[in-house]
Amino acid sequence: MKAHLSDEELAEWLRGCAVEAESHLRECADCRAEAEALRAAIRVGRQWVGTRAERNQVFWMRQQRLIRERIEHRPPGFLPRGLVLATAAVVLCVMLFLTRSPRPTVPAGNDDADNVLLQQVESEVAQDYPSALAPAVLLSQERSAALSAGTAPNLNRTNR
Ligand SMILES: [Zn+2]
Repeated sequence: MKAHLSDEELAEWLRGCAVEAESHLRECADCRAEAEALRAAIRVGRQWVGTRAERNQVFWMRQQRLIRERIEHRPPGFLPRGLVLATAAVVLCVMLFLTRSPRPTVPAGNDDADNVLLQQVESEVAQDYPSALAPAVLLSQERSAALSAGTAPNLNRTNR
């Protein structure tokens, strides 16, 4: 008699394409018991998967209600992190857009002020001295005029 069936031969028999295994199983009680145990285990597994996969309408309605309750009972401050970051980015962009200072506009009728400024600059350039020294120049001119007329005291110490 041949040795007991291997796992591969049992698998072939379960798939229904093992003629040699059939003859062995008829004669060998050990292999027949193992094959029946395998067949029973597969049947139980199929039933388990079937019951898990087939849910009735009540189950799905209950799931829907539970999910709704979880969403409604979320803490009020709870927001997904991605949503918070996206909102912050949008708010930042809007703030930057709104607070950006507009380009300074040139008021109309500014030509007169420009002409006055240009005239001041031209007169400053035409002077021999800076306008800040104008009082000193004026004093110097008056003093030299008085000296030439002999009415002013001579402040030079050279002729003591
Ligand atoms: Zn056997």
